[in-house]
Amino acid sequence: MNLILLGPPGAGKGTQAKRLEQRFGLRQLSTGDMLRALVAGGSALGREAKAVMDAGQLVSDDIMIRMISERIDQPDCASGFILDGFPRTVPQAEALDHMLEEKGLKLDAVIEMQVDDGALAERVAGRFTCANCGAGYHEKFQRPKVEGVCDVCSGTEFVRRSDDTIETVSKRLAAYHEQTAPILPYYREHGVLKAVDGMADIDSVARQTAGILEGAGS
Ligand code: ADP
Ligand code: ADP
Ligand code: ZN
Repeated sequence: MNLILLGPPGAGKGTQAKRLEQRFGLRQLSTGDMLRALVAGGSALGREAKAVMDAGQLVSDDIMIRMISERIDQPDCASGFILDGFPRTVPQAEALDHMLEEKGLKLDAVIEMQVDDGALAERVAGRFTCANCGAGYHEKFQRPKVEGVCDVCSGTEFVRRSDDTIETVSKRLAAYHEQTAPILPYYREHGVLKAVDGMADIDSVARQTAGILEGAGS
């Protein structure tokens, strides 16, 4: 089963992708995480990407399409994958269709996570992750069970993203509406688009999403 989680920054794509990995044995492919790994590598391309990301803009379609195509070919994607953060433009969505066709794969569902714009700044500003295992948390909505200790790996170091500031969020949200939202009608016309109420709490969004995937079969 291969699916796309679509939604604005802070909608809960990463949070739900991690749950779906566990429950359905799928692999989360987060282009944001891939880019942050590239940045951490310190190459010239990484430095270029960091400047674009910190400005709240999108990295070029060319780079992103190549990155995801190579990633899908890895053996750990064979039992299915969750695209988190890709596609983000209509050319990316079209390129994805072509590459899946060439690879003999198909999309089972595209799930739109609907969240009001007004809720996103607080989601993003309160977001932090475990430095050791990458588990995601929120200051208000998803605190570790034991203060300062990761639920998953017992790590005690946490990190925040350099682009999770109020100023960047408004630019990323504008980029979402201008460049990413136009792919919704594209998938609607292809008959694969489903929506969940992303304003609900995390468990309830997980139930809605699982319901869709169970309905999608396979
Ligand atoms: P969020 O989870 O807040 O939506 P991501 O971690 O997915 O953010 O992405 C962080 C940044 O990485 C984006 O603001 C953008 O600059 C870049 N990025 C991630 N995915 C893509 C993509 N598919 N196309 C272009 N840029 C991307
Ligand atoms: P995205 O990957 O779409 O940018 P995340 O999954 O990183 O979003 O979620 C953004 C922040 O909001 C995280 O700190 C996460 O813990 C929190 N969060 C995710 N889903 C919900 C929800 N349904 N209700 C409240 N907070 C949530
Ligand atoms: Zn951890």
